[in-house]
Amino acid sequence: PFDVLVVGGGPAGAAAAIYAARKGIRTGVVAERFGGQVLDTLGIENFISVQHTEGPKLAAQLEGHVKEYDVDVMNLQRASALKPANGDGYATIELESGASLKAKTIILSTGARWRQMGVPGEEEYRNRGVAYCPHCDGPLFKGKRTAVIGGGNSGVEAAIDLAGIVAHVTLIEFDSVLRADAVLQDKLRSLPNVTIITSALTTEVIGDGDKVTGLRYRNRNTEEEHEVTLEGIFVQIGLVPNTEWLDGTLALSNRGEIEIDARGETSLAGVFAAGDATTVPYKQIVIAMGEGSKAALSAFDYLIRH
Ligand code: FAD
Repeated sequence: PFDVLVVGGGPAGAAAAIYAARKGIRTGVVAERFGGQVLDTLGIENFISVQHTEGPKLAAQLEGHVKEYDVDVMNLQRASALKPANGDGYATIELESGASLKAKTIILSTGARWRQMGVPGEEEYRNRGVAYCPHCDGPLFKGKRTAVIGGGNSGVEAAIDLAGIVAHVTLIEFDSVLRADAVLQDKLRSLPNVTIITSALTTEVIGDGDKVTGLRYRNRNTEEEHEVTLEGIFVQIGLVPNTEWLDGTLALSNRGEIEIDARGETSLAGVFAAGDATTVPYKQIVIAMGEGSKAALSAFDYLIRH
């Protein structure tokens, strides 16, 4: 049995494992894919103190740093259920493989995934014009033409953010109206370099084989196809937390995020959570690492009191 069992091997889980192991307690990490979203990232320029790095390199460094310590890393294992402690003081994590692991404290850091449009060209041009994170990749499109797909709060916020950096933003919304808060919509409409297109279904990402050159959309009222020439497409149709397996076990927000307090504790005693899977505002690598460290310190504090 573990003192701390971390579920998820992204930046949050790696930080949690290192902070826990440095307390000299029995620490394990179980991850479906060690590295998490970082593995799918190309350039990273906002990992503070490192001017530029690349996702696969950072993921390898995360794993290398964790393995400096006495941490039991169980990669390529997917957790399927969490059973709270019942009297013996040990919670159980069940794995899809059929195995189960016991621990006094658990840190959940299963991250999230960006909802994709699922149109031709999206996968092919991912990181070559198709982007999901304006805080991360916005500056790459300085002075260029971009589109934002999605007119909810995140899409409209992204469009406002990008409009200050890029030459022009086309916001494309499937519905006949934007769903973002009125104050955001007002701000968006006040900007000179933004075009808003509603009732539009994006049908294809177009590229030259190397990078994005445009997109195609269908006007849902007229069924007419249109093409927009641009260099970048930010897809903002939702960030989905990887918490389906926890449904009914602990408190989740209406978006499925694990609810945590200021110490990273969930609604279950001895169960902590960190990173993109939680209600923490802003989903970023440095934030996930800070949150993972915080959750591990809170777990340690819990252990010395129980
Ligand atoms: P994740 O990185 O999502 O890791 C989750 C971990 O949990 C993975 O190991 C996963 O396999 C595992 N897992 C999930 N479900 C289970 C389960 N049931 N059982 C076991 N393990 C499970 N942020 C930046 O700060 N800068 C950037 O430049 C940047 N660029 C990005 C580019 C792209 C394309 C993407 C997708 C994201 C980018 N981000 C960037 C966001 C950043 O990657 C995330 O905020 C960060 O990785 C979150 O860390 P995390 O540990 O919370 O979750």
